[in-house]
Amino acid sequence: MTLAVLKFGGTSVGDARAIRQSAQIACDATARYDHVVVVTSAMGKSADPRDSVKVTDMLLQAARAAAQGDAESYQRARRLLADKHFAAIEGAVPSADDRWRISDEVEQLLNAFETLCASVRVLGEITPRALDAIAGLGERMAARILAGAMRGLGVRSEAFDASDFIVTDNRFQSAAPLMTLTRERTRGRLLPVLQAGVTPVVTGFIAATEQGVPTTLGRGGSDYSASIIAAALDADEVLNYTDVDGVLSADPRVVSDAHTIPVLTAQEMSEMAYFGASVLHPMTIAPLLERNIPLRVKNTFNPSHHGTLIVYRAPEDQRSGVIKAVTAIKNVSLVTVAGAGMRGVPGIAARTFTTVARSGVSVYMISQASSEQSICFVIPRDTAPAVLDALREEFKEEIRRREIDGVTSFDEAAIVTAVSAGLRDTPGVSGRVFGALGSAGINVFAIAQGSSECSISMVVAAAECDQAVRVLHVLTRA
Ligand code: ADP
Ligand code: MG
Repeated sequence: MTLAVLKFGGTSVGDARAIRQSAQIACDATARYDHVVVVTSAMGKSADPRDSVKVTDMLLQAARAAAQGDAESYQRARRLLADKHFAAIEGAVPSADDRWRISDEVEQLLNAFETLCASVRVLGEITPRALDAIAGLGERMAARILAGAMRGLGVRSEAFDASDFIVTDNRFQSAAPLMTLTRERTRGRLLPVLQAGVTPVVTGFIAATEQGVPTTLGRGGSDYSASIIAAALDADEVLNYTDVDGVLSADPRVVSDAHTIPVLTAQEMSEMAYFGASVLHPMTIAPLLERNIPLRVKNTFNPSHHGTLIVYRAPEDQRSGVIKAVTAIKNVSLVTVAGAGMRGVPGIAARTFTTVARSGVSVYMISQASSEQSICFVIPRDTAPAVLDALREEFKEEIRRREIDGVTSFDEAAIVTAVSAGLRDTPGVSGRVFGALGSAGINVFAIAQGSSECSISMVVAAAECDQAVRVLHVLTRA
């Protein structure tokens, strides 16, 4: 018995042609595996320049505008969403009956969108809970269309809403799965379907609380959905289809000659995703780890390319100390708590991070200060004002006594990360990294080594971020 989970990203279902291509890939997979489960994102970018609609973005923008009292935006969004989905149905679903039925379902989901936006407008505010109910509509439309396209290729296929079986906590916008319940419900719902010879097409991104309230797994969350489902079903493999030839050595929009990395360890992949490689949701690997389920990232539009294989043990022939990839996170602030008198005051670090955590902000990296006279850490830029206020309040006595000079932030910052196996064993690597940045005249404001010791991160000025990525990328060829 072999089971594969195939995930298709937004571009892979961005228009009728892409949907036909994804359906063909899924259809071919049903010949190679006993069972296939398909997971889909909402319709994303189309290759057609006249169609610039990315569905989830449009849903969220319209909902936010509605909260501001704007009644126009969501009605216009509805028309654009209808055009995009009906064109996709027309071009990707061959059976007239099926087209009619799916159009009807899409129409109902668009009605739900309009009703939800209308009530958001009346309320004059949008809660994270309402945002999640609206944000997930795109996947529900896409799953129905992709299932119709697969039926057109002769695969028995049916759309499923993951909110019926992926159970999460209630942290709306980035909910965490409750794995025991999820496993039980996913198996209960999907195994009989698979036994009956049907290939389910499941919505990515969306889930629900135990009480059935819709949640989402965070932006890019369909990757996470696919691995949650794969873990629940004890799948043999996850194939994650996107619009590039696998995981590349850098963001191809920044480094034009970035190359495909053939094999990455789970740790390296997690580190890359965490430090900004948007190709996979940062949590994607976690559910697969326990069961060692291999994941392959592949290109929908170049399916014969091997892509990138994620493995759980470093390959024997791995050359340690070679930089494999460079990633970046933009729009961050470097916050510093500093003061010559800090050294004598116990617990400053603990109080600093407790205060940050209380503000509900997660810290990207903490810099290893060479002295005890300062603590530096990096947070999303939009959270900096609130964090600064909270820290100044927390330390107001120490500031008054001049033990702490103050709490400051550098807001034009970016984090650049070099990812590589065996940084620990190869002291020369950090030398090469800093040497390269130094010769390019790029100033490094703070440094941190990842806890897994397969990455090294540096804070640079936002304006120098892309250049820093390109300079470090040269080292991936060394
Ligand atoms: P999908 O909708 O298929 O999930 P995403 O847009 O989420 O696709 O992720 C794929 C995109 O990630 C690529 O088109 C590429 O522009 C971007 N990207 C950024 N960094 C990397 C990287 N290191 N490797 C591959 N793609 C990357
Ligand atoms: Mg994605």
